[in-house]
Amino acid sequence: MKQVIKKNLEKPIQKYRLYIQLLFVAIVLWIGIEFYLFANYLETGGASKFYERPPGVEAFLPISSLMNLYYFISTGNIHQAHPAGLFIFVAIILVSFVFGKSFCSWICPIGFISEALGDFGEKIQKKLFKRRLQVPRWIDYPLRSLKYLILGFFVYSIFFMMTISAIKYFLDSPYNIMSDVKMYYFFANITQFSLIVITVLFLLSILIRNFWCRYLCPYGALLGFLTLLSPSKIKRNKESCIDCNLCAQACPSFIKVDKVETVFSDECSTCLSCVDACPVENTLEIKSIYSKKKISKKTVAIGIVGIYFLIIIVGMISGNWQNNISQKEYLMRYKNINSLDHIKSSDDVKKFNKEAEKYYK
Ligand code: SF4
Ligand code: SF4
Repeated sequence: MKQVIKKNLEKPIQKYRLYIQLLFVAIVLWIGIEFYLFANYLETGGASKFYERPPGVEAFLPISSLMNLYYFISTGNIHQAHPAGLFIFVAIILVSFVFGKSFCSWICPIGFISEALGDFGEKIQKKLFKRRLQVPRWIDYPLRSLKYLILGFFVYSIFFMMTISAIKYFLDSPYNIMSDVKMYYFFANITQFSLIVITVLFLLSILIRNFWCRYLCPYGALLGFLTLLSPSKIKRNKESCIDCNLCAQACPSFIKVDKVETVFSDECSTCLSCVDACPVENTLEIKSIYSKKKISKKTVAIGIVGIYFLIIIVGMISGNWQNNISQKEYLMRYKNINSLDHIKSSDDVKKFNKEAEKYYK
């Protein structure tokens, strides 16, 4: 008997995903402008108009945030140098646990840029080669493990090599306190070498989709691990599937969605492109592994944004958003900011290590 194919009439979510990505890009740009004004204030030694430092900048301090999380778990206290970073870090982890690695495809501005470059590259590839290029598996797998090695290095260094005293020592250090300002100057006064590295990454992202996210981003590794533990999974109903392969073609992570019943991959970023592409009703859906119930695309979108902002609001109303570094202290520390450059490479690093070692077990 011929199978009756019911057309999938559900509206795609990609337009709304793009709106959400643009919203977060706008937030990051806003934070960048505010931080630029704050840095200007520091540069003039407090002579120009004061602009509040935006705590959202701490989203770009994942190592400090990871240390703060460890410190919080061990002591029950939130270190006050970069408290907002901790809440943003927890928000990212929670969103990615509940809805898979969705932070990468819905919120992360780097993910957005990477996706835009990948789309651009794919258009060129389809024109030139009539298909999108894919890295052969035997190279892809070892390269994908690189980001886990980088993450492993940080996790091992923080959770296994450092005692809580050493963590506190680092969090209290001038280097950590001024790390956001130093990061700003890394981009504001970018070196030729860094510019070359960034350009190469851009070009590689056009050639190989999501090059940075797939192979090098330690955040991507952490969230990829959480994706595997997430209760939300993309499920294919093989009874109604017509094997059209549209889902696999739409997948930016090259997952063979059409060959599995459940997508169980650390590369699935819950972008829902495959779900949108499926032409058959109730065939490809995101479902909870517990209730086996379908989660609507709208629920995914609202859930991702909702959880993220909820955690940030908790940080704000609990008084853990603005840090405890006064204007005066910033001005005073700014005078010595260049001396902090030597901490990584000169004799100062030995001095710092010696000091820190006192706190190691
Ligand atoms: S499997 Fe689907 S949801 Fe996951 S990355 Fe691929 S297209 Fe996106
Ligand atoms: S898009 Fe994928 S899940 Fe949907 S019918 Fe085609 S092969 Fe099956």
